[in-house]
This record gives sequence, C-alpha cells and structure tokens, in this order.
Amino acid sequence: MIPYGRQDISQADIDRVVEVLKGDFLTQGPMVPKFEAAVAAGSQVNHAVAVNSATSALHIACLALGVGPGDYVWTSPNSFVASSNCALYCGAKVDFVDIDKDTYNISVEALEFKLIQAEKQGTLPKVVIPVHFAGQAPEMDKIHILSKKYGFKIIEDASHAIGASYKGKPVGNCEYSDITIFSFHPVKIITTGEGGMALTNDEKIYATLYRLRSHGITRDVNQMVNLPHGPWYYEQIELGFNYRMTDIQAALGYSQYQRLNEFVSKRHQIANTYFELFKNKPVILPKQMPDSYSSFHLFVLQLKLEELESSQTQIFERFRNSGILVNLHYIPIYRQPYYSKMGFKIEDFPNMEEYYSRALSIPMYPGLTNDQLKEIVLRLTTPIGHQTLF
Ligand SMILES: *Cc1c(COP(=O)(O)O)cnc(C)c1O
Repeated sequence: MIPYGRQDISQADIDRVVEVLKGDFLTQGPMVPKFEAAVAAGSQVNHAVAVNSATSALHIACLALGVGPGDYVWTSPNSFVASSNCALYCGAKVDFVDIDKDTYNISVEALEFKLIQAEKQGTLPKVVIPVHFAGQAPEMDKIHILSKKYGFKIIEDASHAIGASYKGKPVGNCEYSDITIFSFHPVKIITTGEGGMALTNDEKIYATLYRLRSHGITRDVNQMVNLPHGPWYYEQIELGFNYRMTDIQAALGYSQYQRLNEFVSKRHQIANTYFELFKNKPVILPKQMPDSYSSFHLFVLQLKLEELESSQTQIFERFRNSGILVNLHYIPIYRQPYYSKMGFKIEDFPNMEEYYSRALSIPMYPGLTNDQLKEIVLRLTTPIGHQTLF
C-alpha cells in the first residue's frame, strides 16, 4: 500500500526521544525551547512558540491579533478546515476568497476585488490567512501591500511549507506577515506526532502567544498586574489554554528538523520525476512560480477528464484499488455542512469549483521509490490486471 503522505523516522530520531523518556522532564523541560530556537534561527525570525498542533497555533494567533466577536477573518477555501475554524473559535465571522487558477493559492485579484466591496459595506477583515498550498508560497508581497491599504493583519498558514522559501528567504521569516504557522502532523514535512508552531518578529505578539499556550499565565514581573507575593508567584492575566508541546515531541521535532533539507530535496527529486513521467499525459501539472521554492508537501494533478475518458471518481478508485491511496486536497471548506449553513454560495468560487472537479493528490513523501513512482504514473491510465494484447 502506498499512502499519499507519511513520516520518515530515523534511528537518530528514536534515540533523541528515548533520551527524553529516560530523563527528568517529559514536558516543560529544555527540549521545547531548544526546538523553538532551532526553528526560529532556521526561519530567520525572532520568536517561535511551539504548541500541541497547528490548529492550536492558529487559534492563539487569531487571539493574539485581537480577533473576536464582530470581526471578519478571510482565508482560502482550498485548505484544511482548521484554517477557518480558528476564527470561529474566537467568535469571529469567516469568509473565503477564491483561488488562483495556476497556483491553487488565494487569488490576489479576487482578494483585492473583495476588499473593495467590503470597504463600501464596512465589512473589512481584521485578519487574512493566506495558506501556502502544497508548500508553495502565495503572493505574499502583494497581500502585504493590500494589508497596509485596507488595514488588516496577516497570519500565514504555512502548515505545508516548513523548508520552503519565498524570494530567496525562508518561509516563516514573517517579512510579509504578523505571524506564521507550521504543522508537525505526520503527513507534513517534519513531525512531532501532533504539534505546531507560531512564529513572529513582534515582541508583544510573542508574549501573548507564550501566555495563551499555558493558561494565560506569566512569570514575567513586567507583565504582572500586582507585585509578586514571593518567589512562588505567577499571575494569570487572561484566559489561555493548555496547548503545550511535550519535551518528548520536541525531541522528535528537533531531530527531524536537522533533516529538513534532506526531506525537502528528496521531495523535489520526486516532483522532478513526476514532472518528467507525466509530461505527455492528460494532466495539468502543478505550476511552480519563479520566486518560490516549494516544500512539496503535496503533489496535485488536475485531470483532463475528457482525454482520460474517465470520471474523477473512476480514476480515484482505479488508484485506490491498486493500493495507491490518492487523496483530494481539498474539499472546499464552504461546502462542509457546518459552513454551508452559514450561507456560502458555490457560484462565488468558480476557480475553486473548477479545481475541485478535477484535482487529485498523488503520493508524495521522501520514502517513495522510483519503482513506486513508475507504478503510480502507470495507474493513471491503466487499470491493474489490464493486459495489453500485443
Ligand atoms: C494540517 C493542517 C492544519 C492543521 O494542522 P494540525 O497540526 O493537524 O492541527 C492547518 N492548516 C493546514 C493548511 C493544514 O494542512
């Protein structure tokens, strides 16, 4: 069986985790800050806060930017539901911006058009969450310019994109955003089992993210309301959560992070093989923008169904029946029953709908062999057990 994505755990990764298990701190020990410092340095950003999932990171990122009831948060419908759920957790309203036909990322043209309308109606967003779909950066420079003109903040959902770069700099440096989020779920580029991280250059945002991860508690005298009663003293100054990452997870994350370049290079190698092998096949290959170096979390084909003389479902089943667990990223979020009852209209997202009608994610992870890649390419057009007669 070939899944669409999976982790790659080395003996060194295992050894690091075992060391923590044998040590004094399973959580709130030295490994979390060590992992945070490594990722912050590698991402060329001032601060990183590790948490128990990217979903938690998105939630406290929204809170740290002041998202609350009455606010609007906009994101791409071509994402996992967490990209928009985070705003709902804060009592805000969500809206979606159609995607770009070539990159499947948020469309800057559609965003600008929607901002002009929203300005007239007094419904401008407080925060926009561009998603680095499949590991490729959206047009962050243009989105950043729009954020200054229309007064919104930016959270980059880079759950797919640790190890990617944009305009020659690592994704996560927050040059064009207030906060960037990474995910360490096992299908992502590096893993901690479950886990995520929020990165920022802003001291105040950092202090808030740090408190919200752990109940809204601070031990920093400068952030306290009262004078400390003694050396035991801490203060809860807002309502936070237990979103902490354990040291067991951080040890795995730190070890995996040492292998980031290896992972991303291997993903590029696989992507290059796919680009070569699918060259004359009836598919549209994922367009790579010149200013972006993708981490290739996903490899998405758009099927030319007319030429394939099959439906999307038939092709999906052909792969799955031969043990190749293709997937579809993503079901448009506004189509989820929980969201559609908020009144979203399918007609408002023509590019997303067109994409959804022919997209297919084929396997992409460092452990894939060349034989497996050839098998995957073959299965696009040839059912298993099919024999050519001559
Ligand atoms: C995986 C993912 C998330 C959520 O990540 P978790 O770590 O599982 O919470 C959020 N956004 C996107 C785009 C994702 O792919």
